[in-house]
Amino acid sequence: DIQMPLWLTKRAALTPERTALASGGGNMTWEDLESQAKVTARRLAKLGIGEGDRVALLMQNGPDMAVVIHALPFLGAVFVPINSRLVPSEIRWQLADAGAKLLLYDLPHRETAETAAETEVLSWDRLASLKPAEGPLRSHLHLGELHTIMYTSGTTGRPKGVMLSYGNHWWSATSSVFNLGLDMNDRWLVCTPFFHMSGLSILMRSVLYGITAVIHPSFDPAAANRAIREDGVTIISVVSTMLAQMVEEQGGRGYPDHFRCMLLGGGPVPKPLLERCRDQGIPVFQTYGLTETASQIVTLAPEDSLRKLGSAGKPLFPSELRIMDGEEEASPGQPGEIVVRGPNVTLGYWKRSDVTREVLRDGWFRTGDIGCVDREGFLFVLDRRSDLIISGGENVYPAEVEAALLAHPVVVEAGVTGVADKRWGAVPVGFVRVKPGEVVTEKELVRFCGERLARYKIPRRIHFVRELPKNASNKLVRRRLPELLEEKEE
Ligand code: AMP
Ligand code: MG
Ligand code: MG
Repeated sequence: DIQMPLWLTKRAALTPERTALASGGGNMTWEDLESQAKVTARRLAKLGIGEGDRVALLMQNGPDMAVVIHALPFLGAVFVPINSRLVPSEIRWQLADAGAKLLLYDLPHRETAETAAETEVLSWDRLASLKPAEGPLRSHLHLGELHTIMYTSGTTGRPKGVMLSYGNHWWSATSSVFNLGLDMNDRWLVCTPFFHMSGLSILMRSVLYGITAVIHPSFDPAAANRAIREDGVTIISVVSTMLAQMVEEQGGRGYPDHFRCMLLGGGPVPKPLLERCRDQGIPVFQTYGLTETASQIVTLAPEDSLRKLGSAGKPLFPSELRIMDGEEEASPGQPGEIVVRGPNVTLGYWKRSDVTREVLRDGWFRTGDIGCVDREGFLFVLDRRSDLIISGGENVYPAEVEAALLAHPVVVEAGVTGVADKRWGAVPVGFVRVKPGEVVTEKELVRFCGERLARYKIPRRIHFVRELPKNASNKLVRRRLPELLEEKEE
């Protein structure tokens, strides 16, 4: 297991004066960031946080959150990011599953945090008032050690904690730079959440490369475009709905030359949007990756971005890709399951060795996504993994939404599927069968879901039906649910 100096310490020693973080609140150098992260680590130590302890964060993107994320390695503590859109009951479940010792939150999340927590909760402000503990901090890390547990929902309805090691992040960052290259003046805009891989991976790259992470508290297309035009941003990570809004807002003005990469991932992208970007000279690079691969694993190379429009690219330098049709490798052009291998692939799921064994064999990770490669080895992602609905970049698993609907006393059967939506790409819609003789309104079910599910998971519409489509073994066939809508229209 390879040992190396803590990344932030090394970075602060190499380039202390360079800007680490830029935000509305100003700039922070690597030297400043290191000293703040160390003080924060010492305050956390005061609370008894140490080696291997899981620390959950429910915070808005910003320098404070970045400081805490960088503080945890000084204690050997594990970072558990919490999606700030979740409702308290969803958060409580993740805290318990992770065995979090502490939930740290900032002001906007106070109520949610205090409602959710059974573990110890503490506000960022309170933390800042603690007297730092004395004693040594860690100076080194091992690549095999656990850095993050990041929850993703699953087909079973319960989220699973994806375990990511320092090595996973290291290889993810190095793989990316072998493809996209590095400019010492790079400034990477963070406008996707730190609680998703897309945002967190920028923080990792910035400390390893020594470049600036420009942090916006949330995504705003006009602010993102302005940051590119006026704030020297050279790279930005986006999902399709964000890109569409930026292109709209920019209104064909084009971007300055220093802007070199619009890294586009997280879900399928409509071809017309890619063509529009190509016509306007916007440097879009499609990428394919999962939380389980610590962000990108397949990305287009600069020279292929126009020639291979619609492709996610080739596997990055240390990674491999196979398309499997059952136990056989599919031939070019033939669709199959996307299976990947590489040093950025997760250690497995937290406390779920059963699921880990199913999807991870000999280092090969079965993504559940469907794709094909062309004769030159370029990946085309054709379909999402088992029933996944991607709505504005957030993942919604039908099973989780169905479980919430079924929890209602009069609902006896429920099915959820995604329908196309102009703004969000897709939105969930529900179909329910209620107990004979009982009535419940759509509004009541929506309210009921709202207590159990983050807003983006709540079905946009709920249809009452007499029967749900089933197969011979009486299992719900979700892909036939849309037929019920057509019947209604007739
Ligand atoms: P996440 O757990 O949020 O990282 O989501 C990973 C999932 O997003 C993958 O399993 C895919 O279903 C989807 N995804 C990621 N990149 C792409 C892409 N380029 N095209 C289509 N789907 C994608
Ligand atoms: Mg995603
Ligand atoms: Mg019920």
